[in-house]
Amino acid sequence: LLKLQYIFRLTTESYQLDIRVVKSIANASDANNFLRSIETEDRQSVKRVVLDCSAATAKTIIYNHVHDIHMGRRNYHYLLTSLVMDEFFNTDTPEFGAINITGFRMLQTQNSEYRKLLKKWKFLDSDVWPGAGTNYLSVSVLFNVLRNPIDSEKVNVISVLRNPTDSEKVNVITVLCNPIDSEKVNVISVLRNPTDLEKTEIVGLTGNISFSEDGFRKNFTIDIVEMNVDSEMVKIAEFSDTRGLEFDPTVNGENLENGIENKTYIVTSILEEPYLMYSKPEPGEILEGNNIFEGYSKDLADLIAEKLKINYVLKLVNDSNYGGQDPSSPAGWNGMVGELIRKEADMAIAPLTITSARERVIDFTKPYMSLGISIMIKKPMKKKPGVFSFLNPLSKKIWMCIILAYLGVSVVLFLVSRFSPVEWRFEEAFLGPSVSNDFSLMNSLWFSLGAFMQQGCDVCPRSVAGRIVGSVWWFFTLIIISSYTANLAAFLTVERMVTPINSADDLSRQTEVEYGTLRFSSTQEFFKRSKIAVYARMWEFMNSRKHVFTSSYDEGVKRVRESKGKYAFLLESTTNDYINERQPCDTMKVGRNLDAKGFGVGTPLGSGLRDRLNLAVLSLTENGDLARLKNKWWYDRSECSSNTGKDSSQNELTLSNVAGCFYILIGGLVWAMVVALLDFCYKARAEATRAKMSMMEAMKVKLRSSITGMHQHERGRFYTPAPSQLITVDGMADNINQNTHTQV
Ligand code: ASP
Repeated sequence: LLKLQYIFRLTTESYQLDIRVVKSIANASDANNFLRSIETEDRQSVKRVVLDCSAATAKTIIYNHVHDIHMGRRNYHYLLTSLVMDEFFNTDTPEFGAINITGFRMLQTQNSEYRKLLKKWKFLDSDVWPGAGTNYLSVSVLFNVLRNPIDSEKVNVISVLRNPTDSEKVNVITVLCNPIDSEKVNVISVLRNPTDLEKTEIVGLTGNISFSEDGFRKNFTIDIVEMNVDSEMVKIAEFSDTRGLEFDPTVNGENLENGIENKTYIVTSILEEPYLMYSKPEPGEILEGNNIFEGYSKDLADLIAEKLKINYVLKLVNDSNYGGQDPSSPAGWNGMVGELIRKEADMAIAPLTITSARERVIDFTKPYMSLGISIMIKKPMKKKPGVFSFLNPLSKKIWMCIILAYLGVSVVLFLVSRFSPVEWRFEEAFLGPSVSNDFSLMNSLWFSLGAFMQQGCDVCPRSVAGRIVGSVWWFFTLIIISSYTANLAAFLTVERMVTPINSADDLSRQTEVEYGTLRFSSTQEFFKRSKIAVYARMWEFMNSRKHVFTSSYDEGVKRVRESKGKYAFLLESTTNDYINERQPCDTMKVGRNLDAKGFGVGTPLGSGLRDRLNLAVLSLTENGDLARLKNKWWYDRSECSSNTGKDSSQNELTLSNVAGCFYILIGGLVWAMVVALLDFCYKARAEATRAKMSMMEAMKVKLRSSITGMHQHERGRFYTPAPSQLITVDGMADNINQNTHTQV
């Protein structure tokens, strides 16, 4: 009632607030029913509920509220009056949804005494120290420890008051904040004893402890805390008896504006192309301040500073590392991460990958660039398509099958034609009637070849069986030739790159090509922690050869370039893409990315800049500034035009692509002439024996007859055969019908 009275006075007199309802509650459900009845009356208005009860009851009330679908959330604001916020949040905090909760906290959690005690508190025996054994300290528990004078253990608590050297137990005493409580009178009297502690200032769990003449605490502070969206407790303000209420400038948006504006922050970064490089001054230009650097990170820092209206000083990380766990460095981390932990810098704007291990010790904004681990190898020499690349669209096996099919079809055609009466015909030949069959073996082969080459020939099967063979063969060739044609262009023009390594799997299966990562990097961490068999195997390989790790990206890239394909570097895709666009353009990325992650702006844990940075990064992403920066530093500066600029010439076949066809053509022609010559000689020899003349003479005669088309020695008594007649003359085409071929 005392409190209520005070609240009434305060609200009506000082703040003109109107307290609508006051309800004394017996238990949590009582309160929930009451709240529901208010909600049904008026759903819209904002309701501020002051709960004056134990933490456990408050928790149940709010928990029930969150799970009641009829209740509003955003329009509720709870204020917990007792100093229970530690308890409220530390015992298995449920999700409180979007409800606003504000309360007070006495314990100074950032204080080192508090942390020390908390460490011990976990292991104390809860029979002796009620409430101990947990990983949080609550005010009410600590009070209880003191309130029970008969408990022998606690007597010595009081006795330790007389002995201020034992700091741990003094901490417990420091929770004493309610001097009017009669039980503590004896404690107070101890405190009042001028010989002991009055003059000693104790720093305890609740901060500085000293008492006024009347035994009230003086020079004390109480935190005002609020629940944030993650159901975590954040300090928003501080109340002290001397300075009154002070808002924490880093938490609340409006207060923040004035808090950080125009302040100068230290930004740590790392020299890494294209993120941060020394800029090259124009002749006569003198660069100073942050302008001695340029690059993506510098531009990003400028944009962020502009958005946050802050100033910044860019500094390079002292040990040139990104940040890895390193027992030899202070705070156990080196690189930029270590600097943030040690608060040597206020933020890190660099290609710093967000990882769980780092997130535990520093804060990150949302990712501003996404990437993954990738493999960089030295570009192998490009292979020009060979002169016989027109054979490539179909594999060797298929070519063999086609040849076999061709022979098979010809033989079958020959056989079925032999057996079919339709194919046989009678002919009046020069030497009398004879039977003939078009489909000799030679003609069958010729027919199949003609069909396969899509040309056709004079002979055509007439029997049903022969036609069936013909049709299936035509169908077969149709499909094969279409598939061949469809693939042909690609195979003739594409310059194939045969890469020895195509994926992480390839890397892990061999030992000839060594591979490594940057030391103290997220990439190294990834392999170290990976449970995936392939990556774990890769880690074993790398870990057993420590020299594969590099101390900078430059060193890794240099090694790739100089080790003739015997070293592959595992690095982040963004840097990989960048390097591949740089002279001498002899590196390339192979395979898919091994994982997916992002770069974030790092800040020390609990930094007030974090939320604003987050918003800035998100809005820069959304308005396309970051995409523009990426283009500016990656693609606009590309030095390897060969990858993109050769489009037009790429579609055009060069002589070397089709040289093989010419070779075949020439080969065929030469062969035909040789065959013709042999034929000619053979016939001349036969003629010479028959006519009993010399070979030379016979050849001369034959040559003349070949040129004039007439047989010299029989000129005048014989006639030149008409093409329609089934008589063939030596040296002339004899493909009409071999069976009726008549030697003249
Ligand atoms: N950006 C990286 C890091 O944050 C470097 C790497 O993982 O390769 O450590």
